[in-house]
Amino acid sequence: MKKEILFSLFCIVLSLTSCKENRLDVRTDCVNGQSQKKVLFIGLDGCRTDALLAANTPALDSLMNQAVVSLHCDRGAHTVSVPGWSTLLHGVNPDKHSLTSNSFRGNNYKRYPDLFHYINLYHSDLSLATITHWADFLRITTFEDYANFFKTDEKVKDDAIRLIENCTPDVLLLHFDDIDGAGHNKGFAPNIPEYIQSIEYNDQLTQEIMEVIYQREATLNEEWLVIVATDHGGNGTGHGGQDDLEETRFVFLIVRTPQQSRVDIPSSHNVDVMPTILEYLQIPINDDWDLDGRSLLQ
Ligand SMILES: [Zn+2]
Repeated sequence: MKKEILFSLFCIVLSLTSCKENRLDVRTDCVNGQSQKKVLFIGLDGCRTDALLAANTPALDSLMNQAVVSLHCDRGAHTVSVPGWSTLLHGVNPDKHSLTSNSFRGNNYKRYPDLFHYINLYHSDLSLATITHWADFLRITTFEDYANFFKTDEKVKDDAIRLIENCTPDVLLLHFDDIDGAGHNKGFAPNIPEYIQSIEYNDQLTQEIMEVIYQREATLNEEWLVIVATDHGGNGTGHGGQDDLEETRFVFLIVRTPQQSRVDIPSSHNVDVMPTILEYLQIPINDDWDLDGRSLLQ
């Protein structure tokens, strides 16, 4: 029997929706980047803004000094991870992508595709990569040349540096999970030492990655847009069902480009990330895409 038929039968037995709607595949082709303009997206899962500001974070502070910064960014309703990352990387709110819990079932990704879908439409030669500490993150985007999952934030960082040095993807999405883990274990709050330590640890990982990028900008004429974002904050040891809580719903957003001086904007939304990246890559946004945000580049 053909593999496809076996797979279809497997899907029918398991569920009618979960198999065909979302992929979860690891790809390990290190495809050489083509563009001098690069994008690095750093996703810090569950990082609350007041805790970020309380922590000692020299690497993120340096990024903020070259960035459009929002410390009151609406991440939208349904304060869990799948809707959160979908909003960031599909550029629309949950009323459009249709995800309201930590499940991909019933998603409207076909009508509202991800960032990489649109990049691939215009620049199919660009090298696209995702590295994550949370396997389901690989279900959110498509068209990666390289997609990989690791069990620690440190390994995500190590692999990111290896990839940047070996083939330098044009767009690299990173997802780190330790901050969210510390929040669930000990509490999402600035007065929880373990939570603060996890943010400071991620700052060190960011520093190691940025040292490589700063060096490349200085010597290879590359220009990196670096976006640091999160999918939600938290309260107590959770974050679900907290649409009305400031510390869970309103997050930070850092949009760093090499020539930018720090500009603080009073408000933004996580749906602004996708138009920002598309504009940076000079991809014209079509009204038919029905995106909810606006570019934050200045
Ligand atoms: Zn999350």
